[in-house]
Formats: sequence, structure tokens, C-alpha cells
Amino acid sequence: MGYTSWPNGAEIAFAIRDDDISFFTPPEKLERLYEKAWQKGFKVSFSTIPMHRATMQPNVPPESRGHKGKVFNIKKNKKLVKFLKSKVKDRKADILLHGYFHDNLRSVSVTASDTIADPKLLSEFYDLPKEVVKRRLQKGKQLLEQIFNTSITVFAPPNYYLNNEMLQALQETNLACNCAMNSELLKRFLFKATIEFCKAPFRRKRTWIFHLAKSVLSRESTLQPTLAYLLPTPFLRISYILGPENFDTERNVTHLFKTFKKKFQDLRTQRSYFILNTHYHTFFYDWEERITQKRQKEVFDKIIGFVATQDKVWKCTVSDILAVISNQR
Ligand SMILES: [Zn+2]
Repeated sequence: MGYTSWPNGAEIAFAIRDDDISFFTPPEKLERLYEKAWQKGFKVSFSTIPMHRATMQPNVPPESRGHKGKVFNIKKNKKLVKFLKSKVKDRKADILLHGYFHDNLRSVSVTASDTIADPKLLSEFYDLPKEVVKRRLQKGKQLLEQIFNTSITVFAPPNYYLNNEMLQALQETNLACNCAMNSELLKRFLFKATIEFCKAPFRRKRTWIFHLAKSVLSRESTLQPTLAYLLPTPFLRISYILGPENFDTERNVTHLFKTFKKKFQDLRTQRSYFILNTHYHTFFYDWEERITQKRQKEVFDKIIGFVATQDKVWKCTVSDILAVISNQR
């Protein structure tokens, strides 16, 4: 019995997570991007924004950018709702909560690397009291559950920003968190985990020590599996972000695919899971009909093609991974 017992004796679980699905999303773009992946039996977790505010960000189409203050309810895009509902019903997709407004403090356009460098400038949750965060999470969860007739169990923080108020609100809303791990986040987590550890009863402490020892002995490349046990809210980390940057040359295609393969093999050895994170709109930059970022799409196709040829891979959604991990917690 352990954290890594995947269904059907699989050695690794594999999920694709696509962000920024909202009122503005044309379902044709999703179909074009994932058609082949679905044919090969992959599933896609759609990180969905219930009430997207039209900021200056690239995740808003140019013609709608800057309608500052105006909020768009996803349910008004009937075609998209119908499309996503049928994918959920066919078990080809699931829905994750991706913020509430996904707006930012400063209505500026930024590159993806700025996002990581200073997420507080961008996140709608920066500096909000816990009760406000909680209200947004509850409302967003409820809204998406009603629209898509499915249960929402995972929260994907906008701009990969997470703080203690958010962690607490997530725990109280019964939502797990799926985020990228960076050093700032790791520091925050270790701090939070230490406090949790001190407060916990002896029985839980014993379990955590056991898992910590296990992850040290198995030389885990990240502390993630241990953190999943230490934190009150289950935490799933993103394994790989396939962004539009770094695609200047053909050489980068080869390099990025190689990096992916190494990470995949590492996580497979650890009997862990792999979450590939994409943003559909970046492939169509800047909201063109066709896919404009050919190299990015090439790497995506290579990844999907490679994983499809591997055996003992459990193709699943992010919520599926959470369900398995929660059962084994
Ligand atoms: Zn986003």
C-alpha cells in the first residue's frame, strides 16, 4: 500500500492540464488542439475561470481586451458549455477551478517569465483576507458544478500564486491544489508544514515521519510526496509547463522534448504522476484561427506521441490523480 499504486498496475499517471478556459474560449480551438490526444485515449483537465474579467492579458482576445471592470460569465458561452459537458460525460475531460475573475492588480500585459518572477502583481488573490478568498472559491466551485453538472475537487491557482490565506481557504472549502513548484512556494510550504507537524497528534506525526523517510530513501527529486502528507490540503505539483517561450530555434524543440523525456522517466521510476500544463490560447497567438506557434505544437505532438507508445501509463485527469492519492492518504 503506498502513494504510487495506480490503477491497472500502471507505473505512472499522466494528465494534461489546459488553463484559462472561460467565456472567451472557442471550443473549436480546443478540439483542434486535442483531437489527436483524445483519439489516443488521453484526457484533458480544463482549468476553468467562472467569471473572467476582460483585462489586458493575453488570455483575453484582443477585441475584448481592456473592457476594464467588465466580467463575463462562462455559462453565457453556450457552445463551449455544451462542448465541455459532453467531454466530461464521455470521460475525456474534467473541470478544475482556475480562480474566479482571473484579474490582476495591474492591468498590464506580461510575459510568462514575469508571471513566475512576481506573481503577486498578477494574482486576483494577492493580499485578500482569507474570508474573501474562501467566498470566491465557494462561489466559483458552486457555479462550475451547476453549469457542468460535475463535482469540482481541484483548484488551479491563477499565475501559480499561492499564499497561506489561500491554503487555509482551500482546506475549508475542501479543495485540493494543483500548482507549479518554485523556491518561494517551497519555502512557504515548509514553514506551513512545520507548523502543521507541531500541532498534529502523535499518530499522524508517525505517518508523516514514515513518508519523509521513504521519500529520502527513494531519493525523491522534490519534496512533493512528503508535502502532500504534511499539508492539510492535498497538493499536486505540475511536472512540466509547455509555454510559448524558448521556441526561437529548431534546436530548442529537440532540447525541450529531451527535457520532457528525462522528467517523465524520473517520475516513472518514482512511480509518481506527470501533469503537463498548457495554455490553449498560446498555440493560436494572438487569437488567430489557425495554430501559429508551430514549434510549440510540434513539441506537444512529440510528447503525446511518445507517451502513447509507452506501456503501464495511466492516462487520466488531474481529479483522477487526486482521487487515487486521497484514497491512499
Ligand atoms: Zn491562468
